[in-house]
Amino acid sequence: MQRIGIGYDVHAFVSDRPLILGGVQIPYEKGLTGHSDADVLTHAIMDALLGAARLGDIGKLFPDTDPAYQDADSIELLRQVGRLLLREGFSIVDIDSVLMIEEPKISPHRDEMRKRIADALDLPMEAVGVKATTTEQLGFTGRGEGVAAQAVALLDGGASPLVSNG
Ligand code: MG
Repeated sequence: MQRIGIGYDVHAFVSDRPLILGGVQIPYEKGLTGHSDADVLTHAIMDALLGAARLGDIGKLFPDTDPAYQDADSIELLRQVGRLLLREGFSIVDIDSVLMIEEPKISPHRDEMRKRIADALDLPMEAVGVKATTTEQLGFTGRGEGVAAQAVALLDGGASPLVSNG
């Protein structure tokens, strides 16, 4: 059977951290704050994948109270999510995502992000979409206070509800 999942995440800009989006370090005067590397795009994608598999969310899997995940490389966590889905009998069909970010421009880095995400999940690049939009200077993203990301994922496999108890 097929299942879909949705993920959403937000991180705030600060001045003293690198900006990492989709596993790519992007030259900019600010970065995102968080317990891990604060890769908001990769976090939204992980939650979409976990949501589709009904396996909870990244807060459950990688608690931000756990020092093991301090400054964690989110692409490495994504790799772990991919392996977990495989163990649970799922295969990833498709992922799409969107960043809400006023600046910097994402398009020069888009394909590198797609490649990093696809590689972590053993997927072809064509199975990973990354887009970006400004929010027309409205709201926290528009004021440059932070970045939001949304993702959807389509999975195939897992236990059929008709046979899962039998
Ligand atoms: Mg996050």
